[in-house]
Amino acid sequence: MEDCIFCKIIKGEIPSNKVYEDEEILAFRDINPVAPVHILVIPKKHLNSVLDLNKEDEILVGKIYTIINKIAKEENIDKTGFRVVVNCGEDGGQEVKHLHFHIIGGKKLGTKICE
Ligand code: AMP
Ligand code: ZN
Repeated sequence: MEDCIFCKIIKGEIPSNKVYEDEEILAFRDINPVAPVHILVIPKKHLNSVLDLNKEDEILVGKIYTIINKIAKEENIDKTGFRVVVNCGEDGGQEVKHLHFHIIGGKKLGTKICE
């Protein structure tokens, strides 16, 4: 997608602090972290949100969670815990319209899942 900031990161047109990359998936540190560990995991294929996922993407989503597991261990937040957040649409507070999974950890997070 031409104007998608995350597609530009994938193409290397915008710099990012990468923590993982393979043919299908990229993970990089959030530019505006809300916790000591805040990493975004994205499919390289442009999907606007969870609502764009189809049956053919089931393996891709499974791989994303396996990468989340690996990153959590590398970042040493596996024992202390963390949160995986996927915002969707207006009410969900999704700002970037390219499907992304936030990994947030490294501190005790609030118990509320919404305000
Ligand atoms: P969301 O509100 O779920 O759409 O989250 C978008 C996230 O992308 C926010 O946490 C932003 O801080 C993050 N973000 C936006 N631009 C960049 C960028 N160039 N590099 C890294 N993270 C970014
Ligand atoms: Zn995109």
